[in-house]
Amino acid sequence: MAEKISFNDALGIFNRPFFTLLYDAHTIHRNNFDEQLIQISTLLSLKTGGCSEDCAYCAQSAKNGRKAPKQPMISKDTVMEAAQKAKENGSSRFCMSMSGRSPSDEEFEYVCDVIKSVKSLGLETCVTLGFLSHDQVKKLKEAGLDYYNHNVDTSADFYQNIVTTRSIDDRLNTIEMVQNAGINVCSGGIIGMGETNEDRVKMLVMLANLPTPPLSVPINRLVKIPCTPLENVPDVDNFDFIRTIALARILMPTSYVRLSAGRDSMSEEMQALCFFAGANSMFSGDKLLTVPNAPLPQDITMMHKMNLKEAMCA
Ligand code: SF4
Repeated sequence: MAEKISFNDALGIFNRPFFTLLYDAHTIHRNNFDEQLIQISTLLSLKTGGCSEDCAYCAQSAKNGRKAPKQPMISKDTVMEAAQKAKENGSSRFCMSMSGRSPSDEEFEYVCDVIKSVKSLGLETCVTLGFLSHDQVKKLKEAGLDYYNHNVDTSADFYQNIVTTRSIDDRLNTIEMVQNAGINVCSGGIIGMGETNEDRVKMLVMLANLPTPPLSVPINRLVKIPCTPLENVPDVDNFDFIRTIALARILMPTSYVRLSAGRDSMSEEMQALCFFAGANSMFSGDKLLTVPNAPLPQDITMMHKMNLKEAMCA
């Protein structure tokens, strides 16, 4: 097991002179990955809205002050069509999400069936379904699931400011159960919810100190959705965001660090710095659940400018 990193050491790295931090992160990145390759995932919402959880950033929570967009479970034909298109557009992984605290038996059986079919297209699969039972984790493994997404969102200290319907320990228990079953974990957080830089560092230390750090670490920049409790929080500073990416790369040298939600509002130059700092994965497609994402043609042009290429498989 890798040596555990302390909060103070990680904070010291985060606060290094900006160009020293970038140089250190980029060096680690080059030692572990081809710096020109970007892993691309596509995310599809299988079921949207009406969620009983109260995540302050999310439009899908029935508890947030607006009528959440609602869409019942979509058909398998629709999923397969989207997966085929994602593959043709260069994605190596197809991620599927379902709103809610945990899936019903019927929903769960449907998702297992869909996982097997999407895998038959030659795509990696990732699902996010909330809390799972031991039996469900076993069945996901049998269905061939590659990744389970379960974000920790923020630091343990800040967690209750963002979600009150579950605890961070609930979250970590599910991650442990999934990892014990031999399924890769995708887990990261959202930057810009009113947390401090110390919270950002603590979140990354928590992930890096898991018995096995997540193989995939999505770092989102908050997309402020009207009528959610976070609609008016101050913007995160761009340099602090890039520092967070760099620290993720340094603390988790062999993980895929994904630039996730909020990327559509970043300039190409900002994204270039994030890639230099160690981000090597991103979502493709116009939409990420309920929020916009950078359109594919725009991403292709941007990647060409930086001589970046799609990684065929993570
Ligand atoms: S993030 Fe997921 S669990 Fe939280 S409110 Fe939204 S859909 Fe529900």
